[in-house]
Amino acid sequence: MYVVDSCAIFMRKKYRNMVTIPEVLDEIKDEESKLFLSLIDIKIEEPDDESVKAVREAAIKSGDIYKLSDTDIRLIAKALDLREKGAIIVTDDYAIQNIAALMGIEVDSIMQTGISRTYRWIRVCKGCKRPVEGETCPICGSETYLRKKKI
Ligand SMILES: [Zn+2]
Repeated sequence: MYVVDSCAIFMRKKYRNMVTIPEVLDEIKDEESKLFLSLIDIKIEEPDDESVKAVREAAIKSGDIYKLSDTDIRLIAKALDLREKGAIIVTDDYAIQNIAALMGIEVDSIMQTGISRTYRWIRVCKGCKRPVEGETCPICGSETYLRKKKI
């Protein structure tokens, strides 16, 4: 069971056993995406009220509640309903991924290069460890080396 958000639909993700909620469908306005939806096998289901409550509580506890819309919460709740059936929630939204992980729901991201893999290279001094420009540190005169910095 793949529980998908609107982004997964915009990216034309196809899985066997796709599920989403009516609120996600409401976000799909363009004709091409609607055509795509009509061609794939996707179930539209409401989440259980108990699950919505449980997700909301988990989001309040983790602090993600401010980053989640009602639609996001209901989508996670739908995945929670189906957790025992091996539901996987498909999204690139970090707050959704975080709550899903906290609730033991499997997550799949849409793009291959997720945010956690984004980095850039910086030069760091071997002596004073400061990030600097150039091959020699202008502060202490030591050599510098390249290091990955997550952004
Ligand atoms: Zn230095």
